[in-house]
Parts: sequence; structure tokens; C-alpha cells
Amino acid sequence: LVSRTWHPEDSVVDVAGVKVGGENLVVMAGPCSVESIEQLREAAKAVKAGGAQFLRGGAFKPRTSPYDFQGLAEDGLKMLREVADEVGLKVVTEIVDKDDIELVGKYADVYQVGARNMQNFQLLKALGKVKKPVMLKRGLSATISEWLNAAEYILAGGNENVIFCERGIRTYETFTRNTLDLSAVAAIKELSHLPIIVDPSHGTGRWQMVQPMARAAVAAGCDGLIIEVHPHPEVALSDGDQSLTPKNFNRLMADLGKIAAVM
Ligand code: PEP
Ligand code: MN
Repeated sequence: LVSRTWHPEDSVVDVAGVKVGGENLVVMAGPCSVESIEQLREAAKAVKAGGAQFLRGGAFKPRTSPYDFQGLAEDGLKMLREVADEVGLKVVTEIVDKDDIELVGKYADVYQVGARNMQNFQLLKALGKVKKPVMLKRGLSATISEWLNAAEYILAGGNENVIFCERGIRTYETFTRNTLDLSAVAAIKELSHLPIIVDPSHGTGRWQMVQPMARAAVAAGCDGLIIEVHPHPEVALSDGDQSLTPKNFNRLMADLGKIAAVM
């Protein structure tokens, strides 16, 4: 069902009125984690002013260490909805447990399946049973074929609203947190009709590299970007090193307009 052979035209996923795929370029932006209502509001106002359509922010954080900040759970979800409605943005946030589908669905416009859960087949099957769109991140070491199969689980269950997200893969390189595989954009476009967005924040792990890789992703033909933006990256509770300041986010958005115009 995910194959372009089966469905030759590009699919457009409607997220609460915002179209992802086709001729559209969407931008999802916001902090890695929802930390407080003040932090989130400041970030949301900044990304809205920069031209983003979605507010991102994690309330359930899949952290490598159990001693790191784990997220605000439902309190964080409530803040996301409240602030997004205040400024006029859609909400994308991660779901880590199939038992949270109803809870997260109450507040989010699109479910984010994180890299660590790309092959959580129980979660994928459960997301196949809902209608709300799913943004499926590529697994830490997943091949294109494994990733397509993960999406197939969701479509096979009856939910056709899937958006791929390339977020970097594990390689031998250590300068960057992950190796952003921009060839995945071309591969997914060749093999599937579903939209694909790129996450240059997790893809590089370094804010200095987010802008050039975001520009390259748009030039490669992706349907959108998801970017970590924090009003004060130096005090972020997660992923400060890869978060853009509002000022740098604005600069990037201006550059993207120029690239999109020549494409
Ligand atoms: C995130 O988006 O904050 C996140 C945890 O991403 P990933 O699943 O790609 O590591
Ligand atoms: Mn993050």
C-alpha cells in the first residue's frame, strides 16, 4: 500500500486543514521537550512569526538515560494544545505507548512515532486503527525497506495518513550525532507516494549544521522540515546543542523561501 507502483500519484496528507505533500512545504518547529508554559509560549510565538505551521514538542521523552528529563506527560500535552491554539499552529508530538493513543489524540493533530519505536509493531498496528495522521521517523539503524514496511503496518490497518521523517542514521561517524541521509528523500520519492519530511536537528545534533542541511533537504525535494527551536538553547532540558535560537530560525526560513522559489 505504501508503494508508488500501487499508487503512482503523490499523496497529500491533510493534517487538520494543513496539507503535507504535493506542492506544499511545511515546517514543524519548537522545542525538543515541553518544559514549561512560558518556554513553550515563547518558542511557539517565535516559530509562528518565522512562518512555521506546526508546533513540535515532546511530552513523553524517550531518553537514553533513565535519569534524564522524561517529559511532562499529560501536563505537557495540555500546554501544547493551549499554546498552539493561542498562536494558530497545529500540534505534532511523540507517542511512545499504544495505550496512550486516546490520551495523545485528545491534544495532538499528528502522532509522532520516534526513531526508537519505528519497529514497535503493536504501536504501529494500533495507529493503523485511527484516522489521525502519523509522522513515522526512521529507526536509528533502519534500512529504507524496513522503514517502508513499518509504514505498511499503519496503512494495512486502515490509516493512510502517514508522513515519513528522515532523522539521521547510526554510522561510524562521531562528529555528528547521526548521519543525515538525504538520499532517503530521493529513495522514498521513488518508492512511495507518501510525503517525506526531514529532521536536520536530530540528523546532525549540532545547531551549526541545521541550517545548511535544512537547505539541502529542501533542494533534495522533501515535503517539509521538523526543526528544534528553543528560546534559550543553553538552558534546554534536552537537545540544546542542536536547537536553533528564534533568530537563527528566522534566518533559515528566509533562506528556504529563496530555495523553494527556484525549485
Ligand atoms: C524528538 O523528536 O525529539 C526525538 C526524540 O526524535 P527521534 O525519535 O528522531 O530521536
Ligand atoms: Mn530532541
